[in-house]
Amino acid sequence: MSKKKVKNKKASTKYKMYDKEGKRKACCPKCGPGVFLAEHKDRQTCGTCRYTVFKKK
Ligand SMILES: [Zn+2]
Repeated sequence: MSKKKVKNKKASTKYKMYDKEGKRKACCPKCGPGVFLAEHKDRQTCGTCRYTVFKKK
C-alpha cells in the first residue's frame, strides 16, 4: 500500500485518528494529527519531537 495524498477531503484529519481496527490512536499535540504516539507499557511517545505522555493507572 502506498501513501496517497488526499485532495480536498474535509475530514482528512479525522480518519487518521483511527487505525484499521477502529481504535483511536493518540496523536502528538505538537506535531499534529498524522503523527502518532508510539505505544509503550507505561507511556506514549512521539518519535518526531520526543513528546511523552505517561499513562495513568
Ligand atoms: Zn511530536
